[in-house]
Formats: sequence, C-alpha cells, structure tokens
Amino acid sequence: MAIKLTRREFIKLSGLGTVLATLNWDKVVKKALAAAQSGEINVVWFEAQDCAGNTTALIQATEPDLIEVLAGTSHVVGPGTVKLPFHETVMPEWGEGALKILRDVVEGKYDPFVLVLEGSFPIDEKAGGPEGSSLFCYIGDENGKPVSCLEWLRRLLPRAAAVVAVGNCASYGGVVANNVIASDYFKKLGFNLFEEWAKKGFSRSPTGGIGFFPDPIRGHKGVVDILEEAKPFRDFIYKKCTPSGPGDPNCRPAIAVPGCPANGNGQLRTLANLILWVKGLLPLPELDEYWRPKFIFGPTVHEQCPRAAWYAAGNFRKYPGEPTAKCLYAVGCKGPISNCPWNKVGWVNGVGGPTRTGGVCIGCTMPGFTDAYEPFYEKLPYVEISKEGLKKALTVGGLATLAAGVLAGVWAYARGKLEGEAGEGGSE
Ligand code: SF4
Ligand code: SF4
Repeated sequence: MAIKLTRREFIKLSGLGTVLATLNWDKVVKKALAAAQSGEINVVWFEAQDCAGNTTALIQATEPDLIEVLAGTSHVVGPGTVKLPFHETVMPEWGEGALKILRDVVEGKYDPFVLVLEGSFPIDEKAGGPEGSSLFCYIGDENGKPVSCLEWLRRLLPRAAAVVAVGNCASYGGVVANNVIASDYFKKLGFNLFEEWAKKGFSRSPTGGIGFFPDPIRGHKGVVDILEEAKPFRDFIYKKCTPSGPGDPNCRPAIAVPGCPANGNGQLRTLANLILWVKGLLPLPELDEYWRPKFIFGPTVHEQCPRAAWYAAGNFRKYPGEPTAKCLYAVGCKGPISNCPWNKVGWVNGVGGPTRTGGVCIGCTMPGFTDAYEPFYEKLPYVEISKEGLKKALTVGGLATLAAGVLAGVWAYARGKLEGEAGEGGSE
C-alpha cells in the first residue's frame, strides 16, 4: 500500500530542512542556522487573567509548528536554541517547582529571554486598586500574601529583552476590560467604583483589568503606561527611542499580536522575528499605530475577503445563516474596520476564517474589542468610544471607512426594499 505524504510531512520526517540548510543552498538560511545554534534563547510565557485560548491556538500553528521550533527542526533554529522554561499551561512543573523557575527568571538565570504575555492584568493595590485586588490574579504567595500578576510583571520586565502580548486581553485588555457590561450591571447595583477607576484611566472591569498596551478606542491606559519598570518599553512604543540592540537597557521592543485568540502562526512568526532580532539576524518588524506587526496586520479582512464581489455589487445577506454567498456586511460583519489576514489565509493550515465559513468577522484584532464591536450581529457602526478614540477614528482613513460603511448600509437597505423578502445569490 502506497503511503501518501505531503511535502511538509516529508520534510519533517526526513529532517530535510536541516540537511538543506547545511548544504549552503541558501546563504541566508545557513547564516541563520549557524548563528542560531551558537546560543540559546528562552521564551517565558506568563499567563495573567486569561482563558489559555492563545496557547490553544499556538499549539495549532503550522509551518513551523511549536514542536519544530522547540526541537530545532525548523529552518531557522538549531536544536536547543529556543527553550520554553516557563509556561503555566503546558509546563510539566507545578506548584513550588514552577514558582522556582519564575523566581530564577527574575534573578537572571534564564537570560536572555523574550517575555510573552497572555491575558489581561488587573490593577493591584500598589497600582491604585482597592484593598484585596491582588486576589483577582495572583501566582503563589510570599509571607502569607498573594503575589499579584502585576507584581510578577514588575519583577520580570527589568530583564526581558522584548515583550510580545498575545491575544486581545494581553494587548488591549480584551473582553475582560469591557466598559459596557461592567458599568451597566454594577451601576444597577449602586456601585460607582468603576467610574472612579475610569477617571484614573483604568478599565471599568470589576477587576480593573487592562492590557499591556493602552486602548485608544476605549480610552484607557495600558500596563506600559503605569509601571515604572515598563519605561524602556514605554519609550519604544511612543517612539521616543530606537533600540541600539537587544541588550539596550533604555529602549526595548514591545509588540502586540491581538486576536481572540491570536492566530498561532501569527504568534510564532512574531516570536521568530523577535528571536532572530535578539540574535542580531533580523531587524525588528515595522509596527502599525496599534503596535501590531505590519507584515501580518496590514490590510483589512474586507480588502482580502472572498465575498468582496458581493459587497461591491451591494448584495447583502438579510439574516445570519441565510444560505447564500452574499456579503455579511448587513448582518454585522466588522471586516471593513478590522486589520487581519486570517480570514484570507485560513485559521489552521489554510482552513477556516469567519466569512469563508459563513460567520461575521467580530473585530477581535482591534483595540476596543469587544465593546466597540458589539452587538456582533448588528450592522456597523455600533460603537461606544471615547472622545480621544473618536478623534482618532475621524482621520482621513477612518472617515473613508465610515463613509464606505454608511454607503454600504444605505445600499443594503435600498436593495432590501427592491428585493422584498426574497433572497437570491449563489450557494454558500
Ligand atoms: S463586509 Fe465582511 S463579508 Fe462583506 S466583503 Fe467585507 S469582510 Fe467580506
Ligand atoms: S477575521 Fe475577524 S474575527 Fe477572525 S481573527 Fe480576524 S479580526 Fe478576528
């Protein structure tokens, strides 16, 4: 019986990638391999207030996948080059054993390391949260007191060569930092604590949860704005400095890979870029206004959507699940205002993506998520944004998007009138 192998499986099985890289067929690969094998770099994966969804997405990454990176069978790293000594969800150690590794990281025993953040960070007492707020997110305790996630971050940041925030929660606070649900619900109960936090620039989340980066759409701060230990990263994100190299104590890169969850390939490719930067092999990726790599988050979902022809023709679904290939704009698609490639290239190994499978894009790679993108199945624009966020949105590009949205909405309404209740179009 013949065994069928894909090219990728064949390369994996035979170790051909490594063999080819040593045959000088590609100078760049050879140089990268040689340099990468000359020293190891650690990835310290810190989960705060998260659901581990980004970790789940990470282990679905392809080309390379996580095993290839850690085993050193991908083209750019040698065996043992990239290590993952701390990752709460997948590491074999637990309890005191796991905490010891984290303490060793803080003491410099795992330098150099790239710090990956997953989940949002509740404001602890030291940062202005109410008494007891350390309990919203803590890992271990010292002298009978919980050590808050924010406190661990204070300790980890001084040694981190770079920070990567994976997922919307770690990037901008995500669903955990929502304004609407918390403020509406707790206002009814008579609490105004959340309004006080909002005045200080924190989210109205019951936990005061925020991301590493600020959220310009909802108008609240990020961890990078409030922690003194984050200054080298703060100066980087506000373009006050350029890192002279990976060891620069005054200027260090921080990159957002948002999503709910962030796609595994996007996470690994950003990490690979940073690891090769730490090794002096690649420049840092160019970032957009929300600190995302432009090589991933350049075009919008809409600009790359297979339903774009239906949008252009003004052919819109009238209800979610309508069995047609029509554009999903009128049933709530946020593709026109969301920068993201995964709908086009597929979620796992080329398969999946919301509008390709009949669902709407919900805008999960954007700041303001989910506040500014709900209800998911209501037509754009349905936004509650800060004055500052509104000003930002009303740039020439923002206006163009808004105008396109309004026109599409008018067009959808007009077509609906013309067509009555009857649906038409191709099959899904
Ligand atoms: S509105 Fe959504 S479904 Fe329609 S073309 Fe744009 S991205 Fe695709
Ligand atoms: S296509 Fe939309 S919903 Fe899917 S990952 Fe991208 S931004 Fe999120």
